Amino acid sequence: MSISHLIIARKRLLIFWFLLVLLLVAVLKSDVLPEDACPGDKVVVLDPGHGGHDSGARGPSGLTEKSVTLQLAQEIKKALSGRHAVYLTRTGDYYLDIDERTAVANHKRANLFISLHTCGCFRHKGHGTAIFYYSGSTGQNFHPLSQKDDISEAGEKLCYWDYSQSPHIRKSKLLATLVHQELVKNPKLVDKGILHSPCLVLRGADMPAILIEVGPLNPSAEENRFRGGAFISPVAEAIARGICEFFERTGSA
Ligand SMILES: [Zn+2]
Repeated sequence: MSISHLIIARKRLLIFWFLLVLLLVAVLKSDVLPEDACPGDKVVVLDPGHGGHDSGARGPSGLTEKSVTLQLAQEIKKALSGRHAVYLTRTGDYYLDIDERTAVANHKRANLFISLHTCGCFRHKGHGTAIFYYSGSTGQNFHPLSQKDDISEAGEKLCYWDYSQSPHIRKSKLLATLVHQELVKNPKLVDKGILHSPCLVLRGADMPAILIEVGPLNPSAEENRFRGGAFISPVAEAIARGICEFFERTGSA
């Protein structure tokens, strides 16, 4: 083999190794979940907040929370596709009671229940992304989807799963922590942390459950972020990674 052939062969080898390193870096930095990242046999129920006559928050140019939460749920389902069985409490623009939402998760015997909202419709003073887990009636971070009164004092009729969330609070907090860890990697999100609250939609869930508020929809600059998939898809993928991390940590959950 001539010297020129040796030089060409060496150059080709260098190019091969350079491309291989680039490929490895791309895989490591990718937000897309590797096929084997999350062995799936779990049931996840996602709850797109609001629907029908209940639009939730509304942005300055009319984008509604109910449409954003549905899109976010669909994106999370897509990110978990092929790994887990994912169900949505609603798949279109219609209204569901809070109890109906939780009932879907219980009847599906879900391993996880996640209710999705955007900030800006409630009475939160701060705007940003927050994750709630259930804490009973003494929660310090009141959420509008929370009970206002002590149940026994209010004389509210209890159904059998009114306190179903209580045994799962520790894992719900872990789920909140792991999803939060992934979400805060997104520099476009204003982190409002992990909060505990007596959320009604979580109270009856007989499995680890959290409520995620992504937002806000106001002002218009924030609203525009939610249009199209450029903002929502990375958020959905981050939530999916948090879910997978939770299943890896807890096994059968
Ligand atoms: Zn909402």
